[in-house]
Amino acid sequence: MRICIRGGWVVDPKRAQGYQADVLLEGDRITAIAPDLDAPGAADVDARGCYVTPGLVDIHVHLRDPGFPDKETIASGSRAAAAGGVTSVVCMPNTRPAIDHPDVVRYVKETAAAASVVRVYPAGAMTKGQQGTEMTDFRALAEAGVVTFTEDGKSVMDPLVLMQAFTAAAELGMPITSHCEDHHLVRTGAMHRGWVSERLGDPGIPALAEDLIVARDILFAQHTGARLHIQHVTTESAVQLIREAKARGVKVTAEATPHHFSLTHEVLLEHGALAKVNPPLRTQRDVDAVVAGLMDGTIDAIATDHAPHTWEEKQQGLAAAPFGFVGLETLVGVTFTHLVHTGKLSVPEVIAKLTVNPARIMGLPEPRLEAGAVADVTVIDPNLEWVVDPTSFETRAKHSPMAGMRLRGKPVYTFVGGRMVYAHGRGILS
Ligand SMILES: [Zn+2]
Repeated sequence: MRICIRGGWVVDPKRAQGYQADVLLEGDRITAIAPDLDAPGAADVDARGCYVTPGLVDIHVHLRDPGFPDKETIASGSRAAAAGGVTSVVCMPNTRPAIDHPDVVRYVKETAAAASVVRVYPAGAMTKGQQGTEMTDFRALAEAGVVTFTEDGKSVMDPLVLMQAFTAAAELGMPITSHCEDHHLVRTGAMHRGWVSERLGDPGIPALAEDLIVARDILFAQHTGARLHIQHVTTESAVQLIREAKARGVKVTAEATPHHFSLTHEVLLEHGALAKVNPPLRTQRDVDAVVAGLMDGTIDAIATDHAPHTWEEKQQGLAAAPFGFVGLETLVGVTFTHLVHTGKLSVPEVIAKLTVNPARIMGLPEPRLEAGAVADVTVIDPNLEWVVDPTSFETRAKHSPMAGMRLRGKPVYTFVGGRMVYAHGRGILS
């Protein structure tokens, strides 16, 4: 199969400037990039007016498999990824059973090989059953194929367990990936503690719950030499703590989600539990700090924390509904609308935060856009305007606090290993 992506603006993360060229895909490789390629017999894809980028890498995705097929499966989540322009995902281990044993890692890899349209890299749990008390066998999990260790969904609170985990990760040269919330301060809060939580009668989750664990885990990384990746940063203080730690030379990286750099806690007034997420949507001041962190490099990557739940679960009211909502299919739209079209970040900066930076953090193959590279490619129309309609999503969770939002920018083609897996207007092609 030969496909020639014609006339797009090629964004190669290795170069500061993009350039206009055709990109030829043959088999599972990119075989040529040049203007006006002569490619007899190739199927032409019109990319005029679009960016051609390496396939996007989302290092924070909940595929809910094994255990929660009503929320999502590896197959359905992978389709949502492809529709979002994402060609590689790191899936979180808070499944049932948790990804805490090599057998579960093998299940995820084998199911993905059979049913996923994108590449799937599992993350391993830090503790058995994610109970926070007994460390998993990091070496066995690494040998089975996990790329990081995380308790995502919550934090490990026992410092002795943490000490063992950070030490083991340092020995393996693999990152600890941290969801930062102190359980003792989260308690029964469903949203950021502020004027909105007061009005809605919710106890709220103070920003301090996140800041404490960010500070703590930075100290563990500093003490053990382990690499630390901080997930979904949301507070002004957390951004500052990471900025200072980086300046001191601590091996810490961070990600922000599209919802945390675009939405505030006021959204809960309209969308209620549909916008319940942890860590919670915070204040405009925090949103501004997260954007500043993305702009100055304190925050290395953009990741979705795609966290599907059923409609019924989300209709149980603010206190009882589970935390989390979907994000794969709005990733590019929100990112371009809030970071690129506002002039906050350049296209090459944004594409680096969606490709090479997250891949480097997790030790994944380097996304490249050059002859010889694996043909994982995303084509983005930066000016395509669309209104978020969750009923048209590929994910099983067809609801989002972003429903009705007008966005500018959308993936129009996604290629994985040289195969077109998504085309705007045609959907998933498998
Ligand atoms: Zn999380």
